Amino acid sequence: MVLATSLDVETLPPPVRALCERLRGAGHGAWIVGGCVRDLLLGRSSGGDWDVATSARPSEVRRLFDRVVPTGIRHGTVTVLLEGGMRCEVTTLRAERGYRDGRRPDEVRFVNDIEEDLARRDFTINAIACDPATGRLIDPFDGRADLARRTLRAVGDPAARFAEDGLRPLRAARFVATLEMELDPATERAIAGSLDTFRKVSHERVRDEWLKALQADRPSRAFDVMQRTGLLGVSFPELAATSGCAQNRWHAYDVWRHTLVVLDAAPRDAVIRMAALLHDVGKPPTRAWSEARGDWTFHGHERVGAEIADAWLRDYRFSNDERERIVHLVRHHLIRYEPSWSDAAVRRFVARVGPDHVEPLLALARADVTARGRPVDDELRGLETLRARIAELGTRGLVARTADLAIDGRDVMEALGIGPGPTVGLVLRALLERVLEEPELNERQRLLALLPELDARLREGGS
Ligand code: ATP
Ligand code: MG
Repeated sequence: MVLATSLDVETLPPPVRALCERLRGAGHGAWIVGGCVRDLLLGRSSGGDWDVATSARPSEVRRLFDRVVPTGIRHGTVTVLLEGGMRCEVTTLRAERGYRDGRRPDEVRFVNDIEEDLARRDFTINAIACDPATGRLIDPFDGRADLARRTLRAVGDPAARFAEDGLRPLRAARFVATLEMELDPATERAIAGSLDTFRKVSHERVRDEWLKALQADRPSRAFDVMQRTGLLGVSFPELAATSGCAQNRWHAYDVWRHTLVVLDAAPRDAVIRMAALLHDVGKPPTRAWSEARGDWTFHGHERVGAEIADAWLRDYRFSNDERERIVHLVRHHLIRYEPSWSDAAVRRFVARVGPDHVEPLLALARADVTARGRPVDDELRGLETLRARIAELGTRGLVARTADLAIDGRDVMEALGIGPGPTVGLVLRALLERVLEEPELNERQRLLALLPELDARLREGGS
């Protein structure tokens, strides 16, 4: 196989080349390195993020450029903001030594040799540098050959590299998905021995890798690696426990296999995909044998799953907004639509899940149904019908909460001559039920006219 020995300099963005020329003009070495070189060789876009390695010290880099953010001075990194929203991380060539805590090196030593800098990097495909003036590639670990074979291989001894930094095995799982590569067998075998180091990695860093993995065409590739190497068992034992959890007659796969298929079938959206990953996490603890049905049941798994998801997402520092939306999807992922639903039942469904959650929920439900591995055409048609009916009913002015009613608690107290108390809430709930049946009722005068009758029924202890 003939491997490129250089990159066409025309493919390098002019502002990044200008940045390197500036450093070289001041007497320093400067190379483009890391993920952006790898992505150029793969013909993929790196987004707007570029990495440059230089012999200049951080203080000199800061002197040479105007728009500079000191991102990691201690480790020699400053970020230079370029035109067009591009960012370039400029890192001083360094060697690292001693990782007693499994997270960061005890000693960072600045060096002048690009090859020494490449040797501290995680995978061969990430350890290629490019001379920005000529495009010539510096590839001491044969990263290009691994790229061509689509093999992800640690630089040097994988066990030693993983013992230095526990995040690396998780990065490996992520790259298997995002770059669609296979793990070199020795690199994969080394992960099992690195789990104690992996345990020390901060949950924020784990979360960031999960979110990146979720953007892959087939995120299941990353989670499959995590499951089979034990990384998943460390981060999320309840989710790992879905492997081998057999389901009922409606499913062809165990809970874990099913989860992976749902994950890949879900749209590329972090919240929906995270919900896909967690939607059945409540199944192992709720699994029970039913004599009557002669099959396994999972009663309440969506509620138990939502609780497990909530606790885990807090622990892994997801934002409150993301956490709430994910938990809500897990909680409501079972849509038991029947063609017999009345329009009021459709409106009650929308009110229960909230108008903003309908689309994501239907997307998740579609992926979930498709992933059973058994014929499901009827159910898919049912979800389509539900979507069409919701669109037709028009949920724009939909009354989903008592706060959307045309009268409020004060009106209720005044009209009934009562003070604050649970009755006010009960009356408002009853009004909401009526309005879901008959949306035209949501006018001030019509609601006020309903109050005496509702009040009388509540007093009788009816509903
Ligand atoms: P992406 O930008 O898609 O996350 P990347 O490979 O560019 O992938 P960055 O975190 O941007 O990853 O890091 C840039 C480069 O720094 C990597 O390509 C690699 O050479 C090196 N690197 C990053 N993290 C580590 C690590 N934990 N251990 C060793 N080298 C690393
Ligand atoms: Mg990068």
